[in-house]
Amino acid sequence: MMKFGFYNPTRLIFGAGSLAQLEKAVRPYGKKALLVIGGGSVKKSGAFDQAVASLKAAGVSVVEFSGVEPNPRLSTVVRAAELAKKEACDVVIGMGGGSVMDTSKVIAASVLYEGHPRDMLVRAGKVPRLPERALPIITVPTLAATGSEMNNGAVITIDDEGEKLKTFVKAEVLYPRVAVVDPELTVTVPKNHTAFGVCDIITHVTEGYFNGIDGTPLQDRFAEGVILTVLEWGPKAVRDGSDLEARTQVQWASIVALNGWVQVGTNYIAPVHMIEHTLSALYDIPHGAGLAVVNLAWMRFAARFRPDRFAKFAQHIFGLAATGKDDLSLAMEGIDRFEEFLRSIGCPTRLSELGIGEITKEMLFGYAEETLKVLRDEEGRLPGRPPLRKEDIVEILRMAM
Ligand code: NAP
Ligand code: FE
Repeated sequence: MMKFGFYNPTRLIFGAGSLAQLEKAVRPYGKKALLVIGGGSVKKSGAFDQAVASLKAAGVSVVEFSGVEPNPRLSTVVRAAELAKKEACDVVIGMGGGSVMDTSKVIAASVLYEGHPRDMLVRAGKVPRLPERALPIITVPTLAATGSEMNNGAVITIDDEGEKLKTFVKAEVLYPRVAVVDPELTVTVPKNHTAFGVCDIITHVTEGYFNGIDGTPLQDRFAEGVILTVLEWGPKAVRDGSDLEARTQVQWASIVALNGWVQVGTNYIAPVHMIEHTLSALYDIPHGAGLAVVNLAWMRFAARFRPDRFAKFAQHIFGLAATGKDDLSLAMEGIDRFEEFLRSIGCPTRLSELGIGEITKEMLFGYAEETLKVLRDEEGRLPGRPPLRKEDIVEILRMAM
């Protein structure tokens, strides 16, 4: 195990009905809230009205910023930060999926940032100027997937320099002060997004499980615990969206998967996310759907380099017996079983199912180049186990076809 430090200051309020505690969560931090939402699902569900009514009753005034799009754009962050400044908001509430919560975090930092928020985002060859201050952030997730509600990361697409580059920022000031997590808010999530969320949760832990260093037995078991939990409860939530117990189990797993705890001491890197971000930036596909496709192909590629680790996945997750098989065969059988699971909950598993039309070999090279514009090591490779050259990313995408 590596030496490590651990810090996560987000106060978590978890459980059905927790939305009623939003005003108590916000009050210590501000009197005028920028309430950030997406395309309207929270208005349809009634969560928005409930939040506004309880905040107002508690003496917190509300400025609405709506219309955050999935795979949120930097230009949206800039517009919202201008509104927050103009209205002198002193706290930012993100109520929605990962897109809304990520946007809220970067808005909160942008309001107090000297310079353009573009400069805080990671790009290969540039040192990001991390935000050192932010307005207090409160998250209210309505979709179990990203874990953004209790972590310090945000994924944003740069869209204002004639390109679309999906990148990220991670900074201590982006930890929400409070995450108000009410699984009742997720019962309206449609089947497809529920399944994509399951896939995102699993990928958050498989990235560490397969790319991390050796010798982290407790972290491996945490990761396996997250996967086994969503393998059990995810299909129930997909089948019956109103199953509150299933929604609750999946949402707790989504938080644990990426609030830092599973990753400590493992040297967490996320090449599958990096490759997927290129696809969701260019084609606006849901992040979890893209992950289903890329993760499977990446696993089939990477298993050759670390068959014992993938064989362990096959045994511990799918209960496959090792007798009479070499590690690589067992590994591949486990990945096939994983693909069956993803298909059973309705996830796409091939690029052709993402609705992005015909893909040429030149396009695959283009995707690999875009990915490496965000992150690459000194030898020009995407960090991971193994580190991926441009040709390797192309090979993975070819395997995903
Ligand atoms: P999302 O993009 O936030 O939302 C997807 C769709 O689900 C939207 O159309 C949204 O509609 C709808 N939705 C959300 N809650 C709903 C509800 N309760 N009922 C009905 N519909 C609902 O999805 P996400 O998967 O949570 O977030 C994806 C983004 O997060 C991507 O940009 C991804 O790269 C990023 N991400 C961040 C992290 C992190 O740690 N920060 C980790 C992984 C991924 P409305 O717009 O109408 O609400
Ligand atoms: Fe993710």
